[in-house]
Amino acid sequence: MRTLSTDILVLGSGGAGLFAALHAHQAEPSLSITVAVKGLLGKCGCTRMVQGGYNVALAAGDSVERHFMDTIEGGKWLPDQELAWTLVTKAVERIHELENELGCFFDRNPDGTVHQKAFAGQTFDRTVHKGDLTGIEIINRLAEQVWSRGIGRLEEHRAVELVKTADGSALAGVLMIDMRRGDFVFVRAKAVLLATGGGPTMYRFHTPSGDKSCDGLAMALRAGLPLRDMEMVQFHPTGLLAGAHTRMTGTVLEEGLRGAGGYLLGGDRQRFMHKYDPKLERATRDIVSRSIYREMRAGNTTPNGGVYIQMSHLGPADVRRQFKGMVERCADCGFDLAGGLVEVVPTAHYMMGGVMFRVDGATQLPGLFAAGEDTGGVHGANRLGGNGVANSTVFGGIAGEAMAAWVAREGALREPDREAIAASIAAHEKPFGLPAGDLGAIREELFACMWDDVGILRDAAGLGRALSRLHALEETLMRTGVADGDRVFNLTWHDWMNLASLIAVSRVIATAALAREDSRGAHFREDFPEPGPIAQSDFTVVRQGAGTLEIAREPVRFTRVKPGETLIREALPA
Ligand SMILES: Cc1cc2nc3c(=O)[nH]c(=O)nc-3n(C[C@H](O)[C@H](O)[C@H](O)COP(=O)(O)OP(=O)(O)OC[C@H]3O[C@@H](n4cnc5c(N)ncnc54)[C@H](O)[C@@H]3O)c2cc1C
Repeated sequence: MRTLSTDILVLGSGGAGLFAALHAHQAEPSLSITVAVKGLLGKCGCTRMVQGGYNVALAAGDSVERHFMDTIEGGKWLPDQELAWTLVTKAVERIHELENELGCFFDRNPDGTVHQKAFAGQTFDRTVHKGDLTGIEIINRLAEQVWSRGIGRLEEHRAVELVKTADGSALAGVLMIDMRRGDFVFVRAKAVLLATGGGPTMYRFHTPSGDKSCDGLAMALRAGLPLRDMEMVQFHPTGLLAGAHTRMTGTVLEEGLRGAGGYLLGGDRQRFMHKYDPKLERATRDIVSRSIYREMRAGNTTPNGGVYIQMSHLGPADVRRQFKGMVERCADCGFDLAGGLVEVVPTAHYMMGGVMFRVDGATQLPGLFAAGEDTGGVHGANRLGGNGVANSTVFGGIAGEAMAAWVAREGALREPDREAIAASIAAHEKPFGLPAGDLGAIREELFACMWDDVGILRDAAGLGRALSRLHALEETLMRTGVADGDRVFNLTWHDWMNLASLIAVSRVIATAALAREDSRGAHFREDFPEPGPIAQSDFTVVRQGAGTLEIAREPVRFTRVKPGETLIREALPA
């Protein structure tokens, strides 16, 4: 096995990973920094797919306090308030950095100020964007900076294990598979950032990029780290529904469509949101997703089983101009977004839960930092549209600085636990020694289980059933092999590993969902539809125990504002 060494190893090249690499380099240019990524740097992950934009309080009349209150109330009082405060305050700095230092062009108003659009669930239009292709602008500019600074790259390298020292007191490095050669590489590092971007791709309909399979969360679980808020899976209300045989099904039609005044219609071509919420189509994602799901359950559906979104009443030419990317994507699938109706379905989009971490990115394992969608606590029970890319870029940058400081203070290349490396290699090579089986069938069963029983509407019976199904699926996967051929770019092998990560994290989601006997934000229990006492809010924490998942509850600390209070001093401008 090859061994490489670096001062800082960053896992993932989304907004969190690239900002971390850049800020670590800015903090200490002499450090050796390596970005290891499952795909190609700058071409993979979800930050590149960001359509709508980036929330930040910039405009006159808005304030960080207002952005904070929207985040806390949207998160149903479950966010860690110090993390949320850091998000909203640092986002202001980060957006200026993106524009003025990295060279991002965002859309502007005729008077030269940055244009900020409406996103659901917010009391102010604060979403900065570049048309509806904001992520490409951000990731391209970030990648250029990383390329130009001599930061090391391990592309198409998949992280498979966080390896500690033999006494378990600190992280020593990360075991990876070089996907191009099909062999194992151990990367020793003084500090490691986990920024593999979560990604709820275990649901039948989902939006994240195909390279994401919750590997980071599965590795963190195996390393004994606590995961919080894992029951909180956000469904975006409007995924494209283009039939079962296209990968376009599930991809997101952005929130700005509803923000701009788009209508949702049932199969009967009538609007239905008035039955569920006075904010109609501009209600938060959780409410709109549940409403659509209820219409679907009642059979008021389109030919493919979803509902319609209609934009034509806003003027087809305007829609075409404002939502160019969306209009083209729909046209590719045979739909006319500007002038006709497009079939949509709720689609699993984002995991609010993840690794518990501190404001500076540190985790409970010395040497391991985490940022972005792999982490939990920033958003609580619901993420506001536009707070995702703010989260990854804000905390990625902070973690980069913190890792540089950590390396200077206590960084050392530590000796890894060789037995742990050998055991992990054996576990990952296991499928080569087994008769080849049908991984597609396992994936379909996982999709069905998570969509039906751990999805938008949940109850104890369904969650209990799901836990049994997931246990059985894990056993089936562990008996299912991969033809022992060439390991170079063996995508079947990687599929097997993807499924292993997804099933492990699905069990965490179902366990946390069963434990939370109330309904908050994205988590809705039909058998416990009330939110419970907000002032006594607590959050779930799941860890891997000996052979079983352990679940605990911890109280939310209201460090800046208590339920019933607000930090907002000014009224909204008339
Ligand atoms: C279609 C879509 C639209 C969105 N629109 C918006 C929006 O308008 N506004 C907003 O705020 N948020 C939006 N989001 C959410 C936003 O993209 C994410 O919140 C955020 O960008 C995540 O950043 P990240 O750096 O944590 O992860 P990502 O950007 O997803 O990056 C993860 C990286 O980890 C790598 N990786 C994964 N597994 C491994 C492994 N085992 N080993 C090594 N590398 C690995 C991946 O290849 C990738 O490079 C959207 C998401 C999607 C899917």
